[in-house]
Amino acid sequence: MANKYTLNIAHLYGDLMNTYGDLGNILVLQYYGKKMGIDVQSNVVSLDEDFKANDYDIAVFGGGQDFEQTIVSKDIQTKKDEIKKFIETDGCLLAICGGFQLLGKYYIDANGDKIPGIGVLDHYTEQQHDNRFIGNILIKNEETGEQYHGFENHQGVTYTGKGERPLGDVEKGYGNNGQDKAEGAIYKNVYCTYFHGPILARNNIIAKHILIKALKRRYPNDDFSKLEQMDVEKSY
Ligand code: GLN
Repeated sequence: MANKYTLNIAHLYGDLMNTYGDLGNILVLQYYGKKMGIDVQSNVVSLDEDFKANDYDIAVFGGGQDFEQTIVSKDIQTKKDEIKKFIETDGCLLAICGGFQLLGKYYIDANGDKIPGIGVLDHYTEQQHDNRFIGNILIKNEETGEQYHGFENHQGVTYTGKGERPLGDVEKGYGNNGQDKAEGAIYKNVYCTYFHGPILARNNIIAKHILIKALKRRYPNDDFSKLEQMDVEKSY
C-alpha cells in the first residue's frame, strides 16, 4: 500500500559536505519515515543548483573540511534568500558542524582565513590555536530532558546569538566552544549541532521530532497525535 504522506529532503551540498557519513542522517529519516507511513524522498542540491524553499520539507546540511567549506561558502550566498525563507516559514533543517558554521555569520578556518557564512542564524565561529575538540560528547536538552550522544571533531569555536538556544547543555565533552556549556543551536525548526556519528542514528528521538514537525507543516489539517505517541523502535 502506498504511504499516505510524502516529505522531500534537500541534501545541501551532499557531494561536498559529508564528514563521517553525515549522509546517514538521511537514511535514518527514511528508515523511521517508513515506520511512520511517510515516503521520504531526497535529492542533493549542490553548486550552481537552485534551492527552492517551497519544494522542500526538510533540509540536511552536513559537516566538511575547511577546503570544501571555502567552495560552498561562495556558492551558498546565491541560495541565502531561499534558505532564509525556508527557515522563517518553519522548514526543518538539520545542520552539522561545517554546515552549522556556514548558516551563521562567519567561520575563521585553521589558517586564520575568514570564511563568510550566510548569516541566516546569528551565531559566529572563531578559530582555536593549534587545537581541535575531538571525542565523544553527551548533552542534555533542558526543555525535553532528553540526553543526546555523539562524536565531535572541530577546530572552530561557535558562539550562539539572537533567537538561538542550545540543542543541549554539555555533560561530557566540549560543545560549541568549550566554555559556555552550550552544544549546537535550535532556532524555529532548525537543529544545529557539532555531532557526527551521524547524530540521528544515535539519537532517533531527534529524527522523530523532525519528521513530526515536517508533517505538521506540510499537512496542517491532519492529526498526528498517534504518530507523536508512537514508539518508533517498537512499532515496525
Ligand atoms: N572545518 C570545520 C572545523 O574544523 C568543520 C569540521 C567538520 O565539519 N567536522 O571546525
